[in-house]
Amino acid sequence: MEIRVTAAGPGTERLWRDALGEGRLTLPFCEACGRAHFFPRVLCPHCGANAIVLRPASGRGTVHSTTTVRRRAEEGGDYNVALIDFAEGPRMMARVDGVAPAAVAIGMAVEAAIVTEDEAPLVVFRPVAEGA
Ligand SMILES: [Zn+2]
Repeated sequence: MEIRVTAAGPGTERLWRDALGEGRLTLPFCEACGRAHFFPRVLCPHCGANAIVLRPASGRGTVHSTTTVRRRAEEGGDYNVALIDFAEGPRMMARVDGVAPAAVAIGMAVEAAIVTEDEAPLVVFRPVAEGA
């Protein structure tokens, strides 16, 4: 289902977060140039048009870069911050779960999941099992 962004309605980011809260991961697409982008914004970063629709995302992606953030064990331990390239093209900063932070590798195939943290929906990625 597409969510159309209109000047009269809530902004793109709000619509994106609302969909996420309903368990739907979407990506903003520009109807003028046909390209996807991220983060949600008012104008297409590729062509400047304001014809933005949110479309369901595949959730599939590839790790573009990865960093292990050091944290004391009593604060939750080390975690990972990665840049993920969605199959649709846009790049998103997110955490990769389900694997040791240092084991996240560039080029690793990952899949998005929506988790709730601090009472808000959050996109994380998990490695795709071999052959999946
Ligand atoms: Zn565009």
